[in-house]
Amino acid sequence: MNRALLDLQHLDSSIISLSREKKALDDGTSARQQRDETRALLDAARAEERGVTATLRTREGELEDTETKIARQKARLNTSSNAHDVSALERDIGGLTKKRGDLDETILGLMDEGESLQKRVGELEKELARTEAEVGRVEGEFATSSADLDAQLARKRALRPTLAGKLSPVETEKYVASFKKHSGIGVSEAVKGSCSVCGTTLSRDFLRAAPSEAFPQCESCSRLIFVAG
Ligand SMILES: [Zn+2]
Repeated sequence: MNRALLDLQHLDSSIISLSREKKALDDGTSARQQRDETRALLDAARAEERGVTATLRTREGELEDTETKIARQKARLNTSSNAHDVSALERDIGGLTKKRGDLDETILGLMDEGESLQKRVGELEKELARTEAEVGRVEGEFATSSADLDAQLARKRALRPTLAGKLSPVETEKYVASFKKHSGIGVSEAVKGSCSVCGTTLSRDFLRAAPSEAFPQCESCSRLIFVAG
C-alpha cells in the first residue's frame, strides 16, 4: 500500500483535532453572560435604592409638616379657653402625635433599607468589576489561542495538496470512502502486529501478505491498513 495514504491520514487527523480544539475554545460567552447578569442586578439595586431615598425624603417632609402642625396646635391650645375648642385641639394633637410616631418608625425602616441597598450596590459594583476583568481575560486568551490554532491549521492545510497529489485516483477514491465509512479515521497502521486504531492482533498470514497488497484492510475493523514490508 502506498505510504502516502497513511501520511495523508495522519495529516487529516491532526487537522481534525486542531479544528476540534478550536471549536472547544471558550470564546467568553459565559463570562459575558455573567457580567451582563451582574450589571442587570446592579442597575436594579441602584433603581431600588433611588426609590427608597425618594420615599425617605417624602416621609421626612411629612414628618416636618406634622411637627409644625403639632407646634401650632399646641400654641393654640395654650391660648384657648373655650372647652369645645380645647377638646377638638387635644383630639387633633393626639392624632398628629400618632402620625408622627408612625412616620418616625417608617423613616427608621427606610433608612435601614437604604443602608442595606447601599451595601448591596457596593458589593455588586465590585462583582461587576470582577466579571468585567474576567471577560477581558477570557477574550484575550481566546484571541491568542484562536490565532495560534489558525496558524497551525493553515500550516497543515498547506501541506495537504502535495501529499494528496501522491495518491492515484483509485487510491484517492479508496481513501475518501474509508475516511467517510470510519468517521475520519479510515487508514490505520500495523504496529507490533496489531491494528493501531482498533487494537486487534493481526494474523501472521495477514501480516505476511499485506505489504504486497494495494489496499489491505484490518481483519477486524476493516480500515485500510498500512503494513510495512
Ligand atoms: Zn483495526
